[in-house]
Amino acid sequence: MTCVICKSGTPEAGKTTVTLERGKTLVVFRRVPAKICPNCGESYLDDRVVDEVYHAADEAAKAGVEVDVREFHHVSA
Ligand SMILES: [Zn+2]
Repeated sequence: MTCVICKSGTPEAGKTTVTLERGKTLVVFRRVPAKICPNCGESYLDDRVVDEVYHAADEAAKAGVEVDVREFHHVSA
């Protein structure tokens, strides 16, 4: 697959950091499995990974957390 952003790089398996905001809650996930474009740095997340981080961000927002930084290890790469 060719990167849809720069149209020249080929995304490769790696790890990235995902930041999500829910109201006043900021959740940062580190070491999230993704395909990363070596040319422009765009990251492509698997649908199940996206579901996982969105769900966790919603949970943090419900719990009233303001800033949460966590390692991602619900879904194996
Ligand atoms: Zn790219």
